[in-house]
Amino acid sequence: MTDRKNIYFFYKESTSIHKNLDNLINRITENGFNVVNDAQDANIIASIGGDGDFLQCVRRTRFRDDCLYAGISNTNQLSFYCDFYLDNVEKMIEAIVENQMKVRRYPVIEVTINDGPSYECINEFSIQSAIVKTFILDVYINNLHLETFRGDGLIISTPTGSTAYNKSVHGAVVDPKLTCMQITELGSLNNNQYRTLGSPFIVSEDKTLTLKVAKEGNEHPIMAIDNEALSVRQVEKIQIKLTGKKIKTIKLKDNTFWHKVKRTFL
Ligand code: NAD
Repeated sequence: MTDRKNIYFFYKESTSIHKNLDNLINRITENGFNVVNDAQDANIIASIGGDGDFLQCVRRTRFRDDCLYAGISNTNQLSFYCDFYLDNVEKMIEAIVENQMKVRRYPVIEVTINDGPSYECINEFSIQSAIVKTFILDVYINNLHLETFRGDGLIISTPTGSTAYNKSVHGAVVDPKLTCMQITELGSLNNNQYRTLGSPFIVSEDKTLTLKVAKEGNEHPIMAIDNEALSVRQVEKIQIKLTGKKIKTIKLKDNTFWHKVKRTFL
């Protein structure tokens, strides 16, 4: 941590953060860090805002695995990706100087549409019907045809994304030290004619999930990678797998994933 000295701040322009940000920049510079204007020159990238801003920060800086990311909350609440308070600069400096930090590694999912472009995400990929009609997806794990899904859609989440959209549809909360993907259903149809597994399931890092979209007027589904919409038309096949890449984030030693789960939900 202390041999990484070039820091880039990612934030939405807003006058309300400037006083605290100026203070943070002054204190961080006094402690031997350089603030850089281009994320490419940074070996620490700090997002200021909420979880949504952190997701955008990682996306805009291209999911780098050769630098450390940090989430700094600009409110009085910490969140899943934000471990530091912008208005408590001294605590942040103390943690850096006294080496109270740990590095946490988050798995990344890669989504490839129609054998074409690929997209990365750290929370989830979601796919939903864009029309008022059941959505039909053939679901494969590697080459095995697991099921034909009929319903509203599916969410494929990382362990860190397991506490986000996935949790709202009763997916399991997964420890991010397990490198895996979880598949949860959105409104599946289950009767004597149509059958899906009906429960969330988790696949290991060596598996590729393939979704084949049935040509029944639903070739333009609503798709999202984290908080970004994917506007691809004529979707036929989607392949989803873990990249092997890990996004490294800085956390305080006494602030594990399970501390966050307790703090946020219990
Ligand atoms: P945001 O910062 O407004 O986030 C929305 C809420 O989701 C916030 O409370 C945030 O703290 C929380 N959140 C985001 N990632 C989280 C995580 N990994 N664990 C726990 N909570 C998390 O920004 P946004 O741009 O709206 O966030 C995008 C995320 O919102 C998506 O990646 C998706 O997971 C989630 N989402 C949830 C639902 C739902 O629960 N029904 C629907 C759509 C999207």
